[in-house]
Amino acid sequence: MGKLAIKAKFIYYNNKLHQDKYLLVNNNIIEGITETLSDKTYEILERGNSGVFPAFINSHTHLPMSYFRGLADDLPLKNWLEEHIWPAESKMLDEHFVYDATILAAAEMIRSGTICANDMYFFSKNIGRALSDVGLRGVVGGGVLDFPTKFAKNSDDYLKRIEDLIEEFKSDELIKISVCPHAPYTVSPENYRKCIDFSIRHKIQIHTHLAETKWEVDEIIKRYGKSPVKLFDEIGLLDANTIFAHVIWIDDEEIEILGSKKANIAACVKSNLKLASGFIKANKLKEAGANLTIATDGNASNNSLNMFEEMSYFAKLQKGLNLDPTVMNAEEVFNMATKNAAKALNLDKCGELKKGNYADFMIISFDDINMLPVYNPVSHLVYTAEPSNVTDVFVNGKCLMKNREFVTIDIKEVKEKAKYWNKKIRS
Ligand SMILES: [Zn+2]
Repeated sequence: MGKLAIKAKFIYYNNKLHQDKYLLVNNNIIEGITETLSDKTYEILERGNSGVFPAFINSHTHLPMSYFRGLADDLPLKNWLEEHIWPAESKMLDEHFVYDATILAAAEMIRSGTICANDMYFFSKNIGRALSDVGLRGVVGGGVLDFPTKFAKNSDDYLKRIEDLIEEFKSDELIKISVCPHAPYTVSPENYRKCIDFSIRHKIQIHTHLAETKWEVDEIIKRYGKSPVKLFDEIGLLDANTIFAHVIWIDDEEIEILGSKKANIAACVKSNLKLASGFIKANKLKEAGANLTIATDGNASNNSLNMFEEMSYFAKLQKGLNLDPTVMNAEEVFNMATKNAAKALNLDKCGELKKGNYADFMIISFDDINMLPVYNPVSHLVYTAEPSNVTDVFVNGKCLMKNREFVTIDIKEVKEKAKYWNKKIRS
């Protein structure tokens, strides 16, 4: 790695835009920025009319579902899950599937400037392996359900698998582990309590779905006499180290509760729109004090891991819902996709370009046709940019994409594997 100086038109450093400077990197750490550089020990990367920005952290996804992209579209969540996704998973899932599908997802993430995923799935050891092999960061979650799957027999068995994960990745600097009770309609309060104890004992985060559909809220009220948010509050999840995905079907009182607990929330706007699950009241949640982050959800429901598109949908939905174009400005939304996510996932020294942080960043071309002319680069990231504008991606000082070419992934092999599994899934 050594010492590297990146010269670019724009550098988003200390949460501020700087022009015509060098970003200085020493091995895996950011040293600072400078206008002139006389130190000859730096290798110089000249990127002209480009911008260096913190790269995206996708705060809720199911990476191996990338092999189910487009398998079942135009259906509501419940039918989609019960009639298509779960049967396909019960037939297909194994370590090889999960590894190969995660490499496809990793290639898609690198290509679109994402350097970390907060994942929830099964056979997670190979998700962690795949991410680590290509050099991406990950918070790799082991799923927990009340019922048996190919992965585990019961709640204790699921938790045992997560203990194995913790052991497996304890010295991997890119991979963290989390415990992922799936949702209030698939995991009992008793098992949620076990997950909280487990997360405290192992000092890891809890990652769960919450209030994704109206059906879920009705079902939980029927079962327990209270809404999912109130049930979670009673169980202690809102006071635990937790990140909640979706959080759509909530009332004003619940917004206040989630805000007062500074809840970490992963908004999955595009997946929610496609499944017609509903609309997150992100602006109200933010004003109440919640920590908002941006996520794609899995490729089976999105159907992409493109964080540029996700930011754009997110910002526009909030403007539309509030009938106010000034809410959720570009800078705020970009911070949600980077800095807020690092905070939500307890990723120290990540999510921001500043002295002492890890050298995680993307370089964006402002010379491409869709990016011209340039008035406000950050606004371009949210409303204009697309994955093809990403030229370079660095994680922990290591280059994963150079001049739009993958460095750590054999893309020909990724394509062949995708075709091979596509055939198997079809049959
Ligand atoms: Zn999800």
